[in-house]
Amino acid sequence: MSSLMGRMMRMPMLISSLLVHAARHSADTEIVSKRVEGDLHRYTYRDAELRARKVAQALARLGCEAGDRVATLAWNGYRHFEIYFGASGSQLVCHTINPRLFPEQIAWIAGDAADKVLCFDLTFLPLIEKLAPSLPSIEHFVLMTDRAHMPESSKIAGLLCYEELVEAENGHYAWPEFDENTASSICYTSGTTGHPKGAVYSHRSSVLHAYAAALPDAMCLSSADSVLPVVPMFHVNAWGVPYSAPLVGARLVFPGPHLDGKSLHELFEQEQVTFSAGVPTVWLGVINHMKNHGLKLSTLRRTVIGGSACPPAMMRTLEDDFGVEVIHAWGMTELSPLGTLSKLKTKHKALPVEAQRRLLEKQGRSIYGIDMCIVGADGKSLPWDGRSSGDLLVRGGWVIDGYFGRDESPLQEVDGQLWFPTGDVATIDADGFMQITDRSKDVIKSGGEWISSIDLENIAMAHPAVLEAAAIGCHHPKWDERPLLVVVRRPGKELTREEMLAFYEGRIAKWQIPDDVVFVDEIPHTATGKMLKLKLREQFKDHRLPGV
Ligand code: AMP
Repeated sequence: MSSLMGRMMRMPMLISSLLVHAARHSADTEIVSKRVEGDLHRYTYRDAELRARKVAQALARLGCEAGDRVATLAWNGYRHFEIYFGASGSQLVCHTINPRLFPEQIAWIAGDAADKVLCFDLTFLPLIEKLAPSLPSIEHFVLMTDRAHMPESSKIAGLLCYEELVEAENGHYAWPEFDENTASSICYTSGTTGHPKGAVYSHRSSVLHAYAAALPDAMCLSSADSVLPVVPMFHVNAWGVPYSAPLVGARLVFPGPHLDGKSLHELFEQEQVTFSAGVPTVWLGVINHMKNHGLKLSTLRRTVIGGSACPPAMMRTLEDDFGVEVIHAWGMTELSPLGTLSKLKTKHKALPVEAQRRLLEKQGRSIYGIDMCIVGADGKSLPWDGRSSGDLLVRGGWVIDGYFGRDESPLQEVDGQLWFPTGDVATIDADGFMQITDRSKDVIKSGGEWISSIDLENIAMAHPAVLEAAAIGCHHPKWDERPLLVVVRRPGKELTREEMLAFYEGRIAKWQIPDDVVFVDEIPHTATGKMLKLKLREQFKDHRLPGV
């Protein structure tokens, strides 16, 4: 017997449709951007959609064809937003690169993705001038500014001006329809071992994620919101905010490179922002600035905090002192990124406030579209009792099933189904609240950015006085974690903490250099010779980093 098929229109879920919808139904809703150039830029969804069409035309004129990668090295702003839609909407792939990485890593990533065009903000001109010879796949370098801000001369041959490219087009362009499973964007994560790996999102996964992120038990976004994503557009598409905002017709406020507490607070107030999203570290800056100057937040009512664990004290301060509801969220690059958000169910409203808070401090419940399980060392799933802790695995329509250009599957079978292992260790309670209790992956997360422990160890091991070295994350009140290097000296060799730290200069980005070095007689190992990081983390859990 054959099934009866639905008689519904088959409209592919394409990213361009989000902006087309906003341009039609929220045509005069504003997008406000603090520019790298220093001023505020304002226009509307209607303007953005027209310019995104021009970007699509300009990229085609540069010779881009379906599937080509268009890289960006840019802050949150309207031009970046236009490239998101102009590139993906015309069947190209928008590859957002994290400018905080070490230059060699940026070059490696651009090469791995075989990027054809690189669009970058003025801030990064000196970096790209230096890096251009190491970017052989890039055929066109586009500086995201106007003619007036273009350098008189540049080491980059044929450097193009973004505004000139856009202005040269007429916008007579119809967004193409194609398979919704086509790649829309790529984001590399260094939160894994070895080289960074690319998560390749599809139009379908991005639109589904945009719907889910806007739901009431998630970001609860609506056309009444004025949304300021502090989380960068190079961090998993700013957690999907640039897609969810046009989906609901919310006003967008982009902070550009101005991410310090004072600038953010000014923008929250001036632009009457109602909702924001970012990692805990940025909120520390905002809270300190407000406390030091006796300031309040008059319109900001909700914020999603995630990327690393939100300290309970921060949640309380924001709620009690500034009237901002904190929605603690967990996600990953491999999950587009949202997996869980912490919102109470009706029955929890009867609990004492402290019990409610303990629930809200967890990483939260999964949104429809993401399923999760925890497994023990034997690979069998564990009960949702809030106590059993195991490896956290997820599956869903916006979870990767492999990395860009890699054949091997990261997926793991549990109870006859394939799941993505997150590298996080968690408990889940009977109401579905997940709580991260540890991390099995060997990486350090500082201020929402990854630091590879392997890179730190490889550099240390290259020092002639080092016999063995292990890099572990150590708790830090501002950055959540900072790297601590544990070193065994070679017999008979001298090595001081200062000499070891100086050895990192020029070998890795400054902010990735360990905060401290401790010398030990031996590092614990497993039976198979691997360093026992869990044991080391336990041993140094109370280590006080300098200046803390
Ligand atoms: P990324 O791919 O850079 O977004 O990093 C994802 C990883 O960050 C997760 O696998 C966790 O290890 C960590 N992470 C994200 N959100 C949280 C959170 N709310 N609490 C604890 N860890 C988190």
